Amino acid sequence: MPERLVVVTALGVEARAVRRGLGDATLRVCGMGPRRATHFGRGLRTEAAIAVVGFAGSLTSTLRPGQVVVATRVINGDTTVELPSASLVAAHLRQLGIDVVTGSIVSTPSIVRGSARGELHETTGAIAVDNESAFLLAEWRDVDRRRLAVVRVISDSPDHELFSPGTIARGVRGARVLRRIGPALTAWAGALGPRRVVLAGPRSFCAGVERAIDIVRRAIDRFGAPVYVRRQIVHNSHVVHDLETAGAVFVQELDEVPEGATVVLAAHGVAPEVRRDAESRNLRVVDATCPLVAKVHTEARRYARDGFSIVLVGHVDHEEVIGTLGEAPDRIVVVEGADDVDALQLPDATPVAFLTQTTLALDDTASVVGALKARFPDAVGPRGDDICYASQNRQQAVRAIAEECDVVLVLGSANSSNSKRLVEVARRAGCDAHLIENDTEIDLRWFDGARTIGVSAGASAPEFLVTGVVDALARLGPVEVTEHTVVVENVRFNLPAEVR
Ligand code: SF4
Repeated sequence: MPERLVVVTALGVEARAVRRGLGDATLRVCGMGPRRATHFGRGLRTEAAIAVVGFAGSLTSTLRPGQVVVATRVINGDTTVELPSASLVAAHLRQLGIDVVTGSIVSTPSIVRGSARGELHETTGAIAVDNESAFLLAEWRDVDRRRLAVVRVISDSPDHELFSPGTIARGVRGARVLRRIGPALTAWAGALGPRRVVLAGPRSFCAGVERAIDIVRRAIDRFGAPVYVRRQIVHNSHVVHDLETAGAVFVQELDEVPEGATVVLAAHGVAPEVRRDAESRNLRVVDATCPLVAKVHTEARRYARDGFSIVLVGHVDHEEVIGTLGEAPDRIVVVEGADDVDALQLPDATPVAFLTQTTLALDDTASVVGALKARFPDAVGPRGDDICYASQNRQQAVRAIAEECDVVLVLGSANSSNSKRLVEVARRAGCDAHLIENDTEIDLRWFDGARTIGVSAGASAPEFLVTGVVDALARLGPVEVTEHTVVVENVRFNLPAEVR
């Protein structure tokens, strides 16, 4: 197997500490200072990834001994070398529970102490200093920058000078940190390389999510901040954060909303008692329930009025299901899987109807509906199910790309039902798949040997998150991006009168 990773340290003590977790990586000691670093760098010829690792001094009081700095750039005089992989290495170290920051490291010919630290920070913007990194990198000008990393553990700082009391204890603590970084370097080296990225189309926002976000923004414009929103407007933390910045205040229940204030009801829909509660509290209500969820509520009311027992297929703790259930709690029973259908106990002699949550997986739902029809042949319901166009299209697109991908990444929050279903669909198609909130949750080990990466996003996840992941992949090697579109969407929903 060709060499994958070379780790270079200045000191033997650093090499011994970092050895753990490096697997079959090559460990080399270059010696201290610019002259030895230059000599070593000139002699090193490898196609592998190269990580320069060891101790460094902090240039600011905000960095403490024991913290790790992953260099985004390395500076020496007028020369700056950018290191594109830095944020990915740092993210992986964070996943290992290591206290890490990213920033510039400056290399100097001699040890920097006292007031010179602050001056160097002021003139270069660097947060840490060493005596080798820039001199090594200067000898590797022809190496693809994505194959280079500089990872340093802070050993001394303005408040903890070298050779002051505690130096040995700080050194021991720093060595312990160095011992833990090997797995991240190994994962990074394994993840490097050229790739194809296949974007699933459609992906990201659906018409219901766009409408809900638009409603909150317009409500803030029209009625002024704060506008209260009951529960997450859509299940995505980035969207919620953006709207909070714009003036929205998210609450769990209406008793947290001051009397007479404006409240937006989230896209997943609510039970009728929530509307009654809002009315009794004299709140101005703007309803962002997706029209496709509202349609299921209407069906539930109609079936209940006509005397049906209603089987609702969905996840019992999901807000959409809780809302629909509230339309007729005495008549609706929730089932999650085909197995639940056998255990159903419905009153004799009442007709049976079924409804489904809008964001379920098509395959799972088909099997539950099949079990329902087998047990209750006269059961009535939607022609197939109530799964919305957006969930169907995104699942179809992920299934299509999974066939040609080694790994599929789905952008979405952990509480997003439709995003989780996309991961299941990809896995069912035989592909490794992961749900991530954003690119910082990438686990570099997923990409070892993976040459084609699929990317999708749940209906509540903004497109900029997809761009972030593609950018991250491009920091590991050249990427060729293609899009596999299974259908073009042009659905739009009208806004409620209050904000039109
Ligand atoms: Fe509406 Fe479907 Fe989007 Fe949910 S995923 S908001 S049901 S269009």
